[in-house]
Amino acid sequence: MDWFLPEKFGKLSNLGKGATLCILGSGPTGMETALYGAVLGFKVRILEKAQAFENLIRWGHVRCYTPWHENTTPLGREMLQRLRLAQANRPPETITTGRQLALEYLEPLLASPLLKGTLETGISVVRIGNQTGQSPVVSVPRNNENAKGFLLLTRLSDGKEKLEEADFVADCTGTYGNPKWFGQGGLPASGEMGCRSRIVYGLEDILGESKPFFADKTSIVVGNGLMAAATVSRLALLAREKAGTWITWLSCKPSALPIQRVPNDPYRERDLLAAEANTLASRGENHVEYFPGMLIQKVEWLGEDVGFRLHCSGPLGPKTIEGDRLICHRGFMPDTLIWRELGVPVDPVREDFGGELAHPIRLFGFDILGAKRYGRRPGYLMKHVSGQVRAFFARITRQPQLDLYRLCVSKGDRAI
Ligand SMILES: Cc1cc2nc3c(=O)[nH]c(=O)nc-3n(C[C@H](O)[C@H](O)[C@H](O)COP(=O)(O)OP(=O)(O)OC[C@H]3O[C@@H](n4cnc5c(N)ncnc54)[C@H](O)[C@@H]3O)c2cc1C
Repeated sequence: MDWFLPEKFGKLSNLGKGATLCILGSGPTGMETALYGAVLGFKVRILEKAQAFENLIRWGHVRCYTPWHENTTPLGREMLQRLRLAQANRPPETITTGRQLALEYLEPLLASPLLKGTLETGISVVRIGNQTGQSPVVSVPRNNENAKGFLLLTRLSDGKEKLEEADFVADCTGTYGNPKWFGQGGLPASGEMGCRSRIVYGLEDILGESKPFFADKTSIVVGNGLMAAATVSRLALLAREKAGTWITWLSCKPSALPIQRVPNDPYRERDLLAAEANTLASRGENHVEYFPGMLIQKVEWLGEDVGFRLHCSGPLGPKTIEGDRLICHRGFMPDTLIWRELGVPVDPVREDFGGELAHPIRLFGFDILGAKRYGRRPGYLMKHVSGQVRAFFARITRQPQLDLYRLCVSKGDRAI
């Protein structure tokens, strides 16, 4: 593998000394952490509960609003160059779909000599423990030399459980596996827990493979973020083609327009989506009916023929809403159970945009990276990954100045 590494990395490629680095999740964050760790000489293992790049593939039928240059890193692009792939020289402002990003960026990196064989799919990490057995361990400073490392309880797709060991652990499991509840005060609405498996939480390919599920049906969409905007826009397009398709859009906010646009939004695609969804809501076009200020108190599943009934309170009093499909886009929250035995504070991940934690996780060798580090807060973008990854490796190698990206910035790159 050494032949593959650019000479400029020199002795840095021995910093990891073959220590085992377990990375949980193979999203953009897990992959970047793996790449950086492999360059530094860590023995990288990526444990992924589903398929490679699961969430990116799931929403990948839509176009990213951030450009190629922000969704990739100087290190990743350098590796594409060494692989002599055409996309290494793709114009920085190119907009790709999520799936293109997975297949044309992450996939070649995974197949490269650096990361080949590092991904293990169908392994869910259930809990992380500390080999010292001391809990909580936030107050126990560990260091590289006397560290005993971590234990990971993993569950395979056939239900079997297995313990794994690691010297270092990066939790890059994102938040998409853990949707927020839609009841008042962040609680589950009455009945929501019982019918969770029937509610759609992800961004479905409504105009593609999921079309039969939504065509000529009434869908209730709950939420007022970009995912809700994308879903409503697609359902509205479907309604043009299939006249029996109706959309009831509920927002808990009282505003007449559901999506709050970013003033002078630097991302044109994002602003277009927000504007389009707001137009649909305000004009009631394409079978979209928008109800602001709706608080959902109870949800009932009445069977395949009838669908859902929601009991809400709105600005004009109580209201009952029925629909065949229920799509909830209220956002996501991190799975904090996974680190309970480590004694990490439940919501530790408040961060300013400079990359420093307001509540540092004082547990040497473990960190939470990527979207999950933002906790319940929205706003994480793939361009934030490089700052987090750089800081993580600077900490665990005890090299505060370590910055592989600086070594990679080439002509045409601007530092992120
Ligand atoms: C429709 C849509 C459009 C978007 N557009 C953009 C955009 O244009 N630009 C942008 O910057 N961001 C965009 N995003 C956000 C972007 O997808 C996220 O910021 C990014 O995916 C976060 O990466 P991550 O690696 O932290 O988490 P994820 O991508 O969620 O990856 C987490 C991985 O961990 C795995 N996992 C979960 N739990 C476990 C476990 N217990 N054990 C093992 N593995 C586990 C999951 O299967 C998954 O593969 C968009 C999101 C959506 C939904």
